[in-house]
Amino acid sequence: MAETRSTCPYCGVGCGVLIQSEGNRITGVRGDPDHPANFGRLCSKGSTLHLTATERVLRDERLLRPMLRPQRGGALQPLGWEGASALLADRIDAVLRDKGPQAIAFYLSGQLLTEDYAVFNKLARALVQTNNIDTNSRLCMSSAVAGYKQSLGADAPPACYEDLAHAGCLFIAGANSAWAHPVLFRRIEDARAANPRQKIVVVDPRRTETADEADLHLQLQPGTDVALFHAMLHVMVWEGWLDERFIAEHTGGFAALKSLVAAWTPREAARVCGLKAEQIEQAARWFALGGEGADVRAGGDETTPAARAPTLSLYCQGLNQSTSGTAKNSALINLHLATGQIGKPGAGPLSLTGQPNAMGGREAGGMATLLPGHRDPTDAAHRAEVAAIWGVDALPEQPGLSAVPMFEAAARGEIELLWIACTNPAQSLPDQALVRAALARCPFVVVQEAFARTETTGYADLLLPAATWGEKDGTVTNSERRISRVRAAVPAPGEARGDWQIAAEVARRLEAKLRPGAPSLFDYAGTEAVWNEHRQTTVGRDLDIGGLSWTVLDQRGPQQWPMAAGWSSGRVRLYQDGRFPTPDGRARFIAAPYKPVAEATNAQHPFALNTGRLRDQWHGMSRSGSVPALFAHAPQPALQLHPQDMARRGLREGELAELKSKRGSLVLPVAADTRVAPLQAFVPMHWGSQFVGGTDAKGQSRAGINGLMHGKSCPQSLQPELKHAAINIAPA
Ligand code: SF4
Repeated sequence: MAETRSTCPYCGVGCGVLIQSEGNRITGVRGDPDHPANFGRLCSKGSTLHLTATERVLRDERLLRPMLRPQRGGALQPLGWEGASALLADRIDAVLRDKGPQAIAFYLSGQLLTEDYAVFNKLARALVQTNNIDTNSRLCMSSAVAGYKQSLGADAPPACYEDLAHAGCLFIAGANSAWAHPVLFRRIEDARAANPRQKIVVVDPRRTETADEADLHLQLQPGTDVALFHAMLHVMVWEGWLDERFIAEHTGGFAALKSLVAAWTPREAARVCGLKAEQIEQAARWFALGGEGADVRAGGDETTPAARAPTLSLYCQGLNQSTSGTAKNSALINLHLATGQIGKPGAGPLSLTGQPNAMGGREAGGMATLLPGHRDPTDAAHRAEVAAIWGVDALPEQPGLSAVPMFEAAARGEIELLWIACTNPAQSLPDQALVRAALARCPFVVVQEAFARTETTGYADLLLPAATWGEKDGTVTNSERRISRVRAAVPAPGEARGDWQIAAEVARRLEAKLRPGAPSLFDYAGTEAVWNEHRQTTVGRDLDIGGLSWTVLDQRGPQQWPMAAGWSSGRVRLYQDGRFPTPDGRARFIAAPYKPVAEATNAQHPFALNTGRLRDQWHGMSRSGSVPALFAHAPQPALQLHPQDMARRGLREGELAELKSKRGSLVLPVAADTRVAPLQAFVPMHWGSQFVGGTDAKGQSRAGINGLMHGKSCPQSLQPELKHAAINIAPA
């Protein structure tokens, strides 16, 4: 038996795994005891990864060869890589000639490896000359990106996992880490066991399993986080808990924010958020002082910043998936800046990445609003820098389409060719009626996938079989900026190929048409060569990994960026010197007003619908759904509803209820759950139409829970509000 060191492909904790294999078969998996993210631990999903590579899965569930659907609604026919690559290059060339580059779009995934992102990005921008490249990370982390950039100057989580053990207070907002980031949650439990004085505050409309561990659970009304954070700052000002020296020396914009939060008394925020004023005051105290403070019990002066213990905040989709996503992120970062709770062990904001490599995708610039190396596509100098590295004259100036507008454009008939890789938008995007209409209308849909039967593969004109976990090499970055190697333990099954290799092959064929005789931009010697080109785009930037070759990664193990040339290790924490990557070196307070959710509940739609993860499933279940054991925890989807609401609606446990929004309906069994507040409802995000019944508003296509959600998005981050929609519920 051989063991290959790699990384778990599920969540953004980024646990190290050792893949056990015999010949060409993966036979087992165990946690890597030397990986600094997990030290050998794995959760239920990670520890069953080998069961996603059984002979049955490879035979029955994987996409094994390129397939063409000559006619919509017709059968798929195998055509081989030669034919598939040539056909796709021809189609791209034809669209470029007829309609131009804006008629082509790429929709990628936070589950791709950094090298996959890098090649797709270069193909889209340098060769096709379009910025229409976005990813499902838009649904995941784009509000965190926008929040970091506007408050701190760069998309860089400043803290790290080790800080869990140093913190006096853990402030967890909009994150059910116990289920969504289980191994990280074990570290929280360890930290608490080692330091019983550590306080945990959880902000969540549901009483989640994470909230069960909290000293204080703020069960606020959906979408009211900005009001809560402003009121906490109001209390900090009033009580004299600010770090005045830090504000004066390292920040700007506090006066405007102070003026804004003057109106946010705890009583006013309590009214808006559905909380008690005393709860808000308590949360403000623990945040500012780091729990009970380092020295207060020993008679220290709590108003002295030096007497305070550190506070670490952890947050995820509850803040990000919101029409106020960026404002929520910055309002939370305001609290860190106002109290000096940043840039020291145990302190700072730490966004928890949903996907395994949403961070790497941001670093490689694989989104419409980014360029490689945390550059900006609207900045001419940035475009010129990347063009020079890639060896082209210029990059496109016209802004690209982010996820929701990309599918809206396709629904209007403006996208002629849509290339989707490693993601399942016919289940995961909101407003499924529109998304499915877009896929049906787009003349040529390419789906590059490891699994044969996702919701989206049914819309594909061309299916390209991709290698997946255990079969491909590359790198990923986890939530604490730590870059780890992903390694192949076995060859890919059938004719499946690595994602970047598929993109590069099509690119080379397209080059022959668009740049005849010119040296290829895509002639990479291997995955490491792609990595080295990516590293080059980071040199001199905030995420400089000029010193992080694969040899260094092999010798010294996973490292946190930045790690410039000549450094012996990556940087554990950022901003310890109080300097931020802004033009004047100061962080910015953001005075964003509170705005309610986009779709208010009313008499016709009185329930606030929330969606999220279960402990043992992942996204649309294309991978985790192949493991029977992972259904033991929740064998089917259910509508979780407060017993009072069930009684009001005449529903009993297990009976079918119909959920209706303005966009569609769905029928689900109902389950009584006091974790959900009255007039709220929770449905897991994982099941698509193959498991649940329902129709859209036109009574046509069937979709999972995202058929009910709307596509309205945060104006800064363009991230849609997948955490809230107004619905009605009635017996089916
Ligand atoms: Fe994988 Fe996340 Fe579980 Fe770690 S916590 S084993 S990265 S799913």
